[in-house]
Amino acid sequence: MRVGILGGGQLGRMLALEGIPLGHRFSFLEPAPDPPAGALGQVIAQPYDDPGGLGRLAAASDAVSFEFENVPAASARWLAARVPVHPRPKALEVAQDRLAEKTMFRELGIGTPAFHPIDGPADLEPALAATGLPAVIKTRRFGYDGKGQEVARTEAAAAAAVERLGSGLIAEAFVDFDRELSVLAAAGSDGDRVFYPLTENRHQDGILRVSHAPAPGLTGPIQAAGEEIATRILDCLGYLGVLAVELFQCGNALLANEIAPRVHNSGHWTLDGADASQFENHIRAVTAFPLAVPRVPGPAAMINLIGAAPDPATLASIPGARLHLYGKAPRPGRKLGHVNVTGADREAVMRGVEAVTALAGKCE
Ligand code: AMP
Repeated sequence: MRVGILGGGQLGRMLALEGIPLGHRFSFLEPAPDPPAGALGQVIAQPYDDPGGLGRLAAASDAVSFEFENVPAASARWLAARVPVHPRPKALEVAQDRLAEKTMFRELGIGTPAFHPIDGPADLEPALAATGLPAVIKTRRFGYDGKGQEVARTEAAAAAAVERLGSGLIAEAFVDFDRELSVLAAAGSDGDRVFYPLTENRHQDGILRVSHAPAPGLTGPIQAAGEEIATRILDCLGYLGVLAVELFQCGNALLANEIAPRVHNSGHWTLDGADASQFENHIRAVTAFPLAVPRVPGPAAMINLIGAAPDPATLASIPGARLHLYGKAPRPGRKLGHVNVTGADREAVMRGVEAVTALAGKCE
């Protein structure tokens, strides 16, 4: 099948790396020069909303998906009128607006931090009445990797944050969580669903640094609760493909923070820690292949390489480490690749994580 992808970054690259062996060919709509996915298929170098570029992508594709949730929903809708697009554009629209996303969680009975929209200074008082202090003030749209958000511990700080961030904001209760988890689910065209073990995610400066899978100490009830949250969202959105839900764990409760309607950084470990990766299952879903039930034989971890990458040969010599570079030029804060570590037990994986982190830390 000919698969078209909106976006040509590392997620598009890994989708193609896993989709080509299934017999598929790839095209990417990506305006940036020399994109990571460029080695794997045809690149249509036009903006995501360019009618000519969208027309070429539609003509080159039997099925279309996206690797980046800030592509214009209108582009996805335009394509969906001509060629099957999955996940549906509706999923993009919800994921692009934190208010729509949290409202969906509430309507589906999914726990989420208390929240209130802020469209101007007059909304601050009712917002803080809903969330209490501290509160997290976020832009509703186009936030990523912790950008466009501030934690406010006082009313004055919240007012200052609103002034800095502008309008179209949301206030959320600050959650003193035990840890951050994510659930990755895949929905297939025959109604099948598969789930990966919940992953623990450690962030620094708003950017994911390390994931551990299965999340250490993961219990059956927490896994089931994560799967239930994902299932409700998949059902609500009539979803096909991989969905990630970012969660806060507080004791035995899970609160949903946000969704990613695509393959997700916290699922990169599945390339080496599961026998069917998130990328393979996403491509299977959007090309109407049956899903592969992923088997996870042991613990795995993923370390992001951010800003600068250590010597590849040195990294590749660490026992249990598998290097995945994206072909990007180094730049501060940029995700250049990741390393997956697998091992017989968690101690072996942790030794690998420490070795990789020591090398990666030196480069940042
Ligand atoms: P987000 O862009 O919503 O994924 O937020 C980035 C990071 O900020 C999250 O991974 C959390 O570490 C933190 N964060 C976001 N929202 C909250 C919240 N309501 N309470 C506490 N921490 C939060």
